[in-house]
Amino acid sequence: METMLAAVFKRPGEIVLERRPIPSIGPNDALLKVTTTTICGTDVHILRGEYPVASERIVGHEPVGVIAALGDAVSGYRVGQRVIAGAITPCGQCESCLDGHPSQCGGMAVGGWRLGNTIDGCQAQYVRVPFAMANLTSVPDALSDEQVLMCPDIMSTGFGGAERGEIKIGDTVAVIAQGPIGLCATAGARLKGASRIIAVDRIASRLDAAKLLGADEIIDASSADPVQAIMRLTSGRGVDVAIEALGAQETFEACLRVLKPGGTLSSLGVYAGKLAMPPDAFAAGLGDHRIVTTLCPGGKERMRRLLNVVASGRVNLGSLVTHRFRLDQIEQAYDLFANQRDGVLKVAITC
Ligand SMILES: [Zn+2]
Ligand SMILES: [Zn+2]
Repeated sequence: METMLAAVFKRPGEIVLERRPIPSIGPNDALLKVTTTTICGTDVHILRGEYPVASERIVGHEPVGVIAALGDAVSGYRVGQRVIAGAITPCGQCESCLDGHPSQCGGMAVGGWRLGNTIDGCQAQYVRVPFAMANLTSVPDALSDEQVLMCPDIMSTGFGGAERGEIKIGDTVAVIAQGPIGLCATAGARLKGASRIIAVDRIASRLDAAKLLGADEIIDASSADPVQAIMRLTSGRGVDVAIEALGAQETFEACLRVLKPGGTLSSLGVYAGKLAMPPDAFAAGLGDHRIVTTLCPGGKERMRRLLNVVASGRVNLGSLVTHRFRLDQIEQAYDLFANQRDGVLKVAITC
């Protein structure tokens, strides 16, 4: 049996590199030879046992690769084609998909997120992509793997937060937390036409990156109270849209407290434990506020649009890749990324 290298979740605290059989495919699938992938904050949650996946699951949900084989029912693609697939791989046929919520494919429990969650993922030399015709997008030759590596997840998610927040031209937007997703939300807010973007984080290098990606003002939450600072910057008016990009009570609540009446809280964080909504933070329910949430938009049309953005040069997310590893070094990559050492934002893993 032909084998490949793969990063496998064993138990909380343990993701290890192992040899596994190369996946076999069904009629609607594609087999990708993964050329480049990355590690997501969500993978760190899996590693720590904070998000449950089955033991022995191959992790990873951000593939750039080349088609190695196609199922009998797949048309419109060819072996050897360079492609990406989104982190979320909707079926394109179910009620959620056809109702405009493909990330929620299959109904309750974030069913659209399959790779590295409910089926084996792409931190491996090969990955089986389900529903290939709904999920594979050709990558233009002019774009490098690294240039498109953010499309499957963080760019789609971060931009999604700006889009779902329905930012209007001329809006004032706060983006609270500037990890990779928050940085992409900042870039997305700029693309959507916000005229004033206030970025909040505690890490200086992330605030620097936020400025490069379109933040007009930055607030270092390690030395200033972000709510007070934002209210001062907006002369007490508050912001039109507040984007939450961490998934914590403190940041969610800060977003609520800086919203203008009628403003929108666009939440990207993944919450664990209790999330409370103190009545005074949302005007006792009388503020005409809107709260929206986003799971990374997936599917081939989404990826096509994001590739267009990259190709246009309107946003350059290349600076987010701060460290590079080979797949056989992925345990080191996890160690660096999970512990946020050395100013790491995203790692590129070549397979
Ligand atoms: Zn992810
Ligand atoms: Zn579906």
